[in-house]
Amino acid sequence: MPVFKTQVRPGIDRIQPYVPGLTDDELKRRYGLKRVIKLNANENALGPSPLALDAIQRELSLLHHYPDGGSQLLRDAIAEFHQVREEQVLVGNGSDDIIKLLSETFLNPGDEVIVPAPSFSQYSFGAAIMQAKVKQVPLGPGFEYDVRSLADAVTENTKLLYLCSPNNPTGTYLRHDDALWLLKQLPPHVIIIVDLAYNDFSQQPDRVMDSAELLSDNRVVALHTFSKLYGLAGLRVGYGLAHPDLWGFVDRVREPFNVNRVAQRAAVAALTDTAHVSASQELVQESRLQYAAWAQKQGVLLVPTEGNFILVKTGDARGTAQRLMERGVMVRAGFAGLDDYLRITFGTLEENQICLEQLEGVLQEVASV
Ligand SMILES: *Cc1c(COP(=O)(O)O)cnc(C)c1O
Repeated sequence: MPVFKTQVRPGIDRIQPYVPGLTDDELKRRYGLKRVIKLNANENALGPSPLALDAIQRELSLLHHYPDGGSQLLRDAIAEFHQVREEQVLVGNGSDDIIKLLSETFLNPGDEVIVPAPSFSQYSFGAAIMQAKVKQVPLGPGFEYDVRSLADAVTENTKLLYLCSPNNPTGTYLRHDDALWLLKQLPPHVIIIVDLAYNDFSQQPDRVMDSAELLSDNRVVALHTFSKLYGLAGLRVGYGLAHPDLWGFVDRVREPFNVNRVAQRAAVAALTDTAHVSASQELVQESRLQYAAWAQKQGVLLVPTEGNFILVKTGDARGTAQRLMERGVMVRAGFAGLDDYLRITFGTLEENQICLEQLEGVLQEVASV
């Protein structure tokens, strides 16, 4: 029996610690590779926003000062960007921070949290640390949202319901009409968290957005991040839009200086960097076409994606990912229920080309054994 087993809070021993993959350097050393292409974390292939980099440089000489605990400048900028009031905005150390804060603020042991499956693992993590029960509601056969099943899963014990659109890892999206229909079905005690981490990579006119109509519902929280489109994953900054009274409670749980000063300044600058945003969006659109052309030629199945990543059906995803890694291409596999699918982040067009060539090689290698 491990030391501390008797002191640790119930449920903590059942949480699996997050296992990070090999770093680029470890991978290079292990397989004697000169170049590694990292397509496993849905990061921005164009790098950080250049305007954010300038802002970071200017902020460095002030690092002996604590940050603004209320992230006022950033919250004002976000409020203006989304045309909401500043009291509707909460900023976090990544949206992971906000997911954890929402869990800590609202969940009691035994409460239910509804999550689509498969989806982003942090939703279940937040539930696990609070000893809440996770109810997984499977997506449809083409990984599309099944709002009827989500509505049916709700009970009087349901506290939080997560929606992720476009969904990680499937890339499929929730329609705005379906979101509004679902809201109508849900009782007043259910808080609906709509994670829009990848929404600005989509151009689907019918996709769910944090429209005034959606946000006017007091139960809705919309989550955004600077990690993907703005290329600032390493800085850790995300935000949520919701009713000020909801943030009033979350604020009591929040660490006083949860977002560092460099991140706050960089995020303000990134919001104005329309050139970097458009270039990032265009690269993703082109990458989708590049993958579609390849898949058609190879007879490989893709799941149509609205994100900056794509599910590719290869069979034996873990084995395929391992072989790709040995060839210097890092992708993700091992999602529950997706044994046959790799999730590949779009890179630059050159990186995509290399990835697809290597994948072709791996698939031929496997077929010939
Ligand atoms: C990457 C990602 C986030 C962003 O997390 P951060 O903590 O802001 O880096 C949020 N939601 C989903 C679904 C994601 O894939």
